[in-house]
Amino acid sequence: MRALWKSESGSLVFRNLKEPEVIAPDDVKIKVLYNTISETDLRFRRENDFYSRAGIPGYEMSGIIADLGEQAVKDGFEIGQRVSSTPFLFCGKCEFCKRNKHNCCISLQVDSGSLCEYVVRKSSQLVIAPDGLTDKMICLIEPLAVSLEAVSKLDLTFGQSLCVMSGSFEGLVMAKLASRLGALHVSVVEASEVIRDLAKRNGVNHAIDSRDLDHVNQLHQLTDFNGFDAIVENTVDLTYLNHAIDLVAKGGKILLTNSSGFGKMVSTNSFNLIINNISIDTAFLYSRQTMNLSAKILPTLHLEEFIMKEFDFSESLRAFEALKSGNYPRIAIKMRRS
Ligand SMILES: [Zn+2]
Repeated sequence: MRALWKSESGSLVFRNLKEPEVIAPDDVKIKVLYNTISETDLRFRRENDFYSRAGIPGYEMSGIIADLGEQAVKDGFEIGQRVSSTPFLFCGKCEFCKRNKHNCCISLQVDSGSLCEYVVRKSSQLVIAPDGLTDKMICLIEPLAVSLEAVSKLDLTFGQSLCVMSGSFEGLVMAKLASRLGALHVSVVEASEVIRDLAKRNGVNHAIDSRDLDHVNQLHQLTDFNGFDAIVENTVDLTYLNHAIDLVAKGGKILLTNSSGFGKMVSTNSFNLIINNISIDTAFLYSRQTMNLSAKILPTLHLEEFIMKEFDFSESLRAFEALKSGNYPRIAIKMRRS
């Protein structure tokens, strides 16, 4: 089968690989229909980052079940079903998995990517797609699950204020969800004008240009210098954590949702954290339950315009090149139908 292959140096080439087959009883072979790609896929050269290893890239996918083992049938799957998948393998046996905290799994593994004609996944990695979603939109079940998990940690109540530090797909969706949950004031900080416009069409009250030298002061003014009740720090720039500490209200919460890289340290003023009663929390991945919830919620959110471009699989290199503009929360890659 044709597959895109990413080397450790970051170069992308097409390769002909052996088609994967069902071996274990819980294996499911899927004909891939679409992938969506994002800036995460560009993190080719970061050390100790599971997205940067050599192999098939792509991890947000939709597909049709082509073959499956007997346990997968017992788990409710059948040939012809449209599904999405998480690339993560939760062990299902550790104390954290048993408590539905799959994102804390002590044996977490990452599967091969999905920019290829067929993948084989475990039935526990799959979510059946709702009828109302197009083949392309099904890919967003996985990244929406990331946003749902994060928003649930914000503990937002009606009338509160939220600032999201970058207009990534996950950040914009968190802003949209917060607006729906009754947040009265939602701001996003983002360099791309295209993304800022998208944010304003999706529940964001103020989209601030991060390239403005006084953007931190603009954010202070938006809250009359009282600070935001919650701040999502989802950039890969460590300086934003200290901006967040500066901008959060007394008793507020800062949620870290993006790693700046393995081994990188940040120094902060702990005195300010303590006397202002600031909480810092993190959100990483999701549970299986959140993946299933994501499939149900996605059709209600109308995120179609978050996938701004589409390329055929044969044009994948152009798709990755287009990502570098920073103007596209997601780009779709369509596999060949046969
Ligand atoms: Zn586990």
